[in-house]
Amino acid sequence: MHDNSYKPDRIPFDNCHLGVTNLDSSVKEKLGEFLHARGILKELRRLAAKGQKSLVIEFERLLEFDMELAKALLEHPNDFLDTADAILVEITKLPSAHLRIKNIDKATLIRDIRASQVGKFIQVEGIITRVSEVKPEIKESVFKCLRCGEENRVMQIDEVFREPLICENPNCSRKGPFKLEIESSEFRDWQSIRVQERPEELRGGRMPRQLDGIIKDDFVDKAVPGNHVIISGILRVFQEGMPRQRKTTFRKILFVNHIEVVQKGVEEAELSPEDEARIKELAKDQWLRNLIIQSIAPSIYGYEPIKEAIALQLFGCPAIDLPDGTRKRGDTHILLTGDPGTAKSEVLKWASLVAPRGLYTSGKKATGAGLTAAAVRDEIGGGWALEAGALVISDGGLAAIDEFDKMSEEDASAILESMEQQTVSVAKAGIVATLNTRTAILAAANPALGRFDKYRPLAEQINLPPMILSRFDLIFIMRDEPFAERDRVVARHILELHHEPTRVVKPPLDMDTLRKIIIYARKYIDPKFEGKEPLKAIEDFFVEWRKVAEKGDMPLPITARQLEALVRLTKANARMRLSDRITVEDANRAIKLVKISLHEAGIDPETGRVDIDVLMTGKSRSQREKLERVLDIIKDLEGEYGGAAPVGEIKRLASLEGIKESFVDEMIDKEKMRGHLYEPKPGMISRAVR
Ligand code: ADP
Ligand code: MG
Repeated sequence: MHDNSYKPDRIPFDNCHLGVTNLDSSVKEKLGEFLHARGILKELRRLAAKGQKSLVIEFERLLEFDMELAKALLEHPNDFLDTADAILVEITKLPSAHLRIKNIDKATLIRDIRASQVGKFIQVEGIITRVSEVKPEIKESVFKCLRCGEENRVMQIDEVFREPLICENPNCSRKGPFKLEIESSEFRDWQSIRVQERPEELRGGRMPRQLDGIIKDDFVDKAVPGNHVIISGILRVFQEGMPRQRKTTFRKILFVNHIEVVQKGVEEAELSPEDEARIKELAKDQWLRNLIIQSIAPSIYGYEPIKEAIALQLFGCPAIDLPDGTRKRGDTHILLTGDPGTAKSEVLKWASLVAPRGLYTSGKKATGAGLTAAAVRDEIGGGWALEAGALVISDGGLAAIDEFDKMSEEDASAILESMEQQTVSVAKAGIVATLNTRTAILAAANPALGRFDKYRPLAEQINLPPMILSRFDLIFIMRDEPFAERDRVVARHILELHHEPTRVVKPPLDMDTLRKIIIYARKYIDPKFEGKEPLKAIEDFFVEWRKVAEKGDMPLPITARQLEALVRLTKANARMRLSDRITVEDANRAIKLVKISLHEAGIDPETGRVDIDVLMTGKSRSQREKLERVLDIIKDLEGEYGGAAPVGEIKRLASLEGIKESFVDEMIDKEKMRGHLYEPKPGMISRAVR
C-alpha cells in the first residue's frame, strides 16, 4: 500500500534539522568564565541546597558580562546551551544541570516567526492552549552486547533514537546484536505544549496563530492551559511528509529553554503613569458613569439598559474567597437573545474588542476544545494532551460567545461548572485536570424558531436548558418589532453611519481610553459597602419580591441567585465610577437593571407577573397547574366515555375553570408531539400512560 498524504500524528523525528553550529573556542572560554564567576557559583550552591538543577539567568546579565557571549546564545543556541550545561554538570557534580535564559530584550510575535530564525534562540509570548501528558524520554541508553555481554552507553542527544554501531569492548568490536537495558538506562521528563497568540494581538478578528513546543526535564508541567506565558527557546524545524515522500516544507517546533507564567494583570503594562494621572482626573467627573455607558457600542442605536449592563460587566467586581475554601464569582454573565438582525453579534464583537483579554467566538465552532476544555490526541508525541477552550483562554477576561445555543453537548454539560465555580474539570484518557475559567460571559442566542414570540416563555424558545439560563445574571430580549417612529430613527442612524461614520460614531470616550479606565479600575478599585443603606436597599428589594410570592400562592419571583447578581452589579456600579465606596444609588441602579431583565426574561406571558419558574424550569407555575388540571379532566372523561375523551367536552370543562380553549388546543398539540397524548379517533383524546 502506498500512502503519500502527510499525517500530522507523529513528527518524523529522523528528519530533524539540528542546525549544528560550532562555537568559537574563545566564546566557549568566555562562557566558562561567566559560569565560574563568584556570583554564579554562590547561586549554584543555593540551588543545590534546594535540590534544583536549573540556573535561570536574565539575558541582560549575559549581555552585561559580554556582548559577544550574548550574541553567541542568540545565533548558536544549540551549541551554546550544550556547552553551558556540560560546564554546569562539571561544577555541580549533578547528573544533569541546565542553564536557562529568560527575558530576551527582543520578543518575536508568533505570527512573525520566519525562516531566518530557524536554529536561533527566540522568545515568544502567548497563552498556553495545550499541554500533553508528561512522558519519560530516554536520555542515556544502555545496550547490552549479546555476544560478549559488554554494556554500551549511548547518549541520546537528539530526537532520533541511536544504537551503538559496534561494541565498545575492544575484544569484541562486533556489530551486536544489542539489547536495550531499560532498567539501567537514564530517562528525563518530556512534554509537548502549544502556545497561541494573546487575544490582544488579534485585534480585528484575525485567526490566532499557534506554535508548538517541547519542554524537557525539570521544567515540565510549569504551565497549564489558559496560562499566559513568556517562553524562550531554540526554534527547530522538522521535515513534513512521510519518510519516502518528504516535502520541502518544514514544521516549526520551539525547544523550550525557559518558560515563565505571567501573573494576572499583563494588560496593566498598557497603563502609563500619564494614563493613570488622566484617569484619576476623570474619576472626579460626576458624570463618568454616563460617559462610559454612552461610549458602549456607539455605532449601535438604542438598547440603553443593555449597554449599561455590558458596561457593568466590563468593570466587574473582585471575586470573594470564602474561609471554607469556596469562592463567589465576581464576573457577571449576560445573555442577549431575540430576533435576528438586532445587532446582537455586533454588540458582542465590540465588547470583545474593548475588554482586556476579550475573545469573540461562536458556540457552533466544532473544532478542538470548544468552549470549555477537552482531551485530544497529541500530534507531536502521540498519546493525549489537554486542550483549552475559549473560556479557559480568556481566563481573567471576557468571552463573547455568539450562537451560544449551538454549543456541543460536551460543552453544555461542562459549562455549568465554568459559569458558577469558574473552573472546568477534565477527566479523560488519563488526563485529570482542573483549569480556571474566571471569565465573564457575554452570550448571544437566537430563538429556536427564528423569531421571538412574546406570548411564550423564554425557556421554551431558546435551545438552552433552564439550568444554564438561570446562571445568567441578566437576560435581555432584543425584539425587532415594527414601530414606525423608532424604525425611522434607527434607519437614519444606520444610513448616516454609512454616510459619515466619524460624525455619527463619536462616543464621549474613545475605545482606547475606555479600555484603560477598565484596566485601571480592575487593578485598583475594590468597592466596599459603606453604611447600611445600600445593603438595605438590596435586602428590601429582595424581601419585598419574595413577600409577593408568599402572599396568595404566587410564583416565586426571585431567588438567592438574583440576590448575588444584584450584589455583583451594585459593586460594579461603584467600580465603574472609580469609587471604593458603594452608595445607595449604585444599589438602586443595579436593582433597576435586574428588574428590567426579570421582566423581560422571567415574565409569565399568561399573567404578566415575574415568575422565576419560567426561567428555572421553562414552565410558569400557572401553566404547569393548568396543564395538570386539563390532564385530570381528560382522565375523568376517559372513565366516563370508555377510554377516550371528546375534545369538545375537555374544552367545556376546562373553560368552567377559567382555562381558555386556545390553551387546551395548544396543550393537546404539544402533548401529542411529546407522546403523552394521542388521538385514537378523530375528536377524541387519550393519555398514552395511565
Ligand atoms: P444579530 O446578530 O442580532 O442577528 P447583527 O449583529 O448581525 O444581528 O446585526 C445586523 C446588522 O444590523 C448589523 O450591521 C447591525 O449593525 C445593524 N443593526 C441592527 N440594529 C441596529 C441598531 N439598533 N443600531 C445600529 N445598527 C443596527
Ligand atoms: Mg448574529
